[in-house]
Amino acid sequence: MTRITHLRVAHGHSSLGLHQSTNQTMRVLVAGGAGFIGSHLCDVLLAEGHSVICADNLLTGRMANLAHLCNQPRFEFVQQDICQPFDPGNIDYLFHFASPASPVDYLQHGIETLQVGSLGTMNCLALAAKYNAKYLLASTSECYGDPLEHPQKKTYWGNVNPIGPRSVYDESKRFAEAATMAYYRYRKVDTRIVRIFNTYGPRLQVNDGRVISNFMKQSLLGQDLTVYGDGSQTRSFCYVSDAIAGILALAKSEEHGSINIGNPDEFAVLECTKVVLEITGSSSQIRFQPLPQDDPKQRRPDILKAKKLLGWEPKIDLRTGLRMSLEYFRSAVSAAGG
Ligand code: UDP
Repeated sequence: MTRITHLRVAHGHSSLGLHQSTNQTMRVLVAGGAGFIGSHLCDVLLAEGHSVICADNLLTGRMANLAHLCNQPRFEFVQQDICQPFDPGNIDYLFHFASPASPVDYLQHGIETLQVGSLGTMNCLALAAKYNAKYLLASTSECYGDPLEHPQKKTYWGNVNPIGPRSVYDESKRFAEAATMAYYRYRKVDTRIVRIFNTYGPRLQVNDGRVISNFMKQSLLGQDLTVYGDGSQTRSFCYVSDAIAGILALAKSEEHGSINIGNPDEFAVLECTKVVLEITGSSSQIRFQPLPQDDPKQRRPDILKAKKLLGWEPKIDLRTGLRMSLEYFRSAVSAAGG
């Protein structure tokens, strides 16, 4: 286990309001806190005055996402595979964000993806039960598979191929949701589930193969933009700070079912190329490539429940969010050596 800092503050004021009744700051465990969304979550929790322990095995997470926190006294990093039993001591809240999450990553690490969603989730839930901690699972729009209902309401049960290549991720997350609900029902753990739709912004890895990472990188390098299939498939992209605001609103709510967090503005992939070229000012061309198996044809979150129950909706549209991400992508592309 690698610890980069180990200090914590036990009491104080919580503006996040996660423990509004006691006004105490919390000791929070973020599993997968070195990842794209997990690291942004660590930042916000620290800014709210909490103590954060980040547990990550760095399979797809990166220390670079946490480098700015190494002198933060309320932050502790533990290099830990959560599939192995572990015990960080008393915690008040557990956020489970550990998993490879981009198609390229989970297809490369299929077994690890299944393990972290099953064994890792069970270990996290057992910890939450032991310490009577609240628990929030990062789930995914992939639970809906290649959806036959559009937009995807949280009441839709999905269309997942259980033996297709994407099943390592989809079924891992579906199991994680089932395990979470079982701990809620049978062990009375205070759980929440967020289904996160496509999210982008600073710290997205430029080599993770996702559409936004690829198009931004390719545009900045003057390479062809690789469109899979005919580019008519759709996705809806949420800027990371909007997603984090939704996740935190859910964390402090008393909502125990699943909640969709995403931006309902829907774009065909081909349309995305235009937006990225406009923002980067690039004159890259488009190159069509085969569509991966079971690639969902359409995806758009129905966020009515998040609006009603959490008073949350995204504020940042794709153009604005890409503009806000441009500097990050420029430096990440140059750091990666092009
Ligand atoms: N895609 C694409 N070109 C790329 C990368 C992805 O056309 O270079 C497509 C992909 O086939 C999918 C969509 O963009 O239809 C979103 O892919 P991503 O990997 O970002 O995540 P997904 O939403 O499929 O999990």
